[in-house]
Amino acid sequence: KGDVHDIGKNIVAVVLACNNYDVVDMGVMVPSEKILERAKEEKADIIGLSGLITPSLDEMVHVASEMQREGFEVPLLIGGATTSKAHTAVKIDPAYEHPVVHVLDASRVTGVVSKLLSDKGRDDYIAEINAEHDKQRERHAGQQKDRKLVSIEDARTNAVPIDWDNTTIDKPSFTGIRTFDDIPLETLVEDYFDWTPFFQAWELSGRYPQILEDEVVGTQATELFNDAKKMLDTIVKEKKFRAKAVVGFYPANSIGDDIELYSDEDRSQVVTTFHTLRQQSDRGKRPNFALADFVAPKDSGRIDYVGGFAVTAGPEVETFAKTFEDKNDDYNSILIKALGDRFAEACAEYIHKQMRDEWGFGKDENLSHDDLIREKYRGIRPAPGYPACPDHTEKRILFDLLEAEKNAGVELTENFAMYPGSSVSGLYFGHPESRYFGLGKIGRDQVEDYAKRKGVDTAWVEKWLAPNLGYDPKTAKTKKEPAPAEA
Ligand code: SAH
Repeated sequence: KGDVHDIGKNIVAVVLACNNYDVVDMGVMVPSEKILERAKEEKADIIGLSGLITPSLDEMVHVASEMQREGFEVPLLIGGATTSKAHTAVKIDPAYEHPVVHVLDASRVTGVVSKLLSDKGRDDYIAEINAEHDKQRERHAGQQKDRKLVSIEDARTNAVPIDWDNTTIDKPSFTGIRTFDDIPLETLVEDYFDWTPFFQAWELSGRYPQILEDEVVGTQATELFNDAKKMLDTIVKEKKFRAKAVVGFYPANSIGDDIELYSDEDRSQVVTTFHTLRQQSDRGKRPNFALADFVAPKDSGRIDYVGGFAVTAGPEVETFAKTFEDKNDDYNSILIKALGDRFAEACAEYIHKQMRDEWGFGKDENLSHDDLIREKYRGIRPAPGYPACPDHTEKRILFDLLEAEKNAGVELTENFAMYPGSSVSGLYFGHPESRYFGLGKIGRDQVEDYAKRKGVDTAWVEKWLAPNLGYDPKTAKTKKEPAPAEA
């Protein structure tokens, strides 16, 4: 529910179907009631859930507890990019008393399913899974104990040190919104395609182009690559997809851990505010990073600039894939969706290049294709929901700023996933020291402060940042404000 990507789930369905299992694929964004209702109707032997983005982790806990409440007894399989053995053991398994199994990738699913459904091996297998879950939970409890978080105040005094008096700040050639329609597909394919993740989507691991010669997967990878090239030919020649983008540049300053964007350089009118989160682990000599550190603070007196973008390969990806699905051709349907994602990512890289040129510093970067794909240029484009800024809800602020629905045809689902699925969005930072990092666990003091800055309830922030909470929201107590001194 609220999640749109289904390539991994489709592959699982194909693998199971090839092994003579009867699979009912309910598609994407399906609420718990629908899944359980259908499972009863079909007398399903097993239920499987797949998720790409972190909010889906919570949704899976919800489905598990609904299965418990409704008295289900069938095993529950968990898979997809954000899921893990640890999360399954710590959060999902306790919600449902019957087997819950994390399936690492599609190639393992037949093994898991056949064990769960066999009369002989079943009990031993379940005992094995339960023992593994206990181990995971113990490890997790141990980590919780060892985890040392510093206070948010202390983390702030250990921000990234940038000498704002002596740093060059480049000014983009324009501010405000710019849109791109009908971005040339052949340019995206020829100059901006990153093939390695394409193979990962098919669970073939290895870097492109070496993967084509790989001892184990080389033959399969080459066959897949040839099919993909043929399909790409059709997509480009017949203009099957329509790539669109919207970007914006704004004068900006950081204020604490927030980033204010202004309508113009006198900076009297705030257009919008992004809220960033700061690492709170004890980092020793290293700084406690927050994205706001890469933007000149307002009190530095400097005018800085921040950008935002949303790009998509369009809803055409899904409609084209559907034409094959309707012919029961799962292979080509998955192929098209995987290529749709490649176009969206290539589009993000292409537009980022245009923006670095507009910013000025891109003009003399002269990067090889490899270095471009490795993002070896100045600046970053962090994406809300990724490790430096795991709060998916900030996408709403970005999408309002860019009017992404109107200007690029990209929408957000109730869980802040982008629709169409083959879409990418993020912010642009230009400072030479800007870099990606992982936020890690944060404390309740920061969560409360962050909620206040965003003007929302602490519980709401806790819901969206669940994987980053360095505390248990159920038992955490709010620090009492010290009583004001009597006059
Ligand atoms: N070339 C790849 C690009 C996708 S992954 C492809 O074709 O699939 C790299 C992107 O993920 C970055 O450009 C950035 O938008 C995002 N990203 C990676 N690490 C991040 C982090 N720590 N925080 C925020 N965003 C991150």
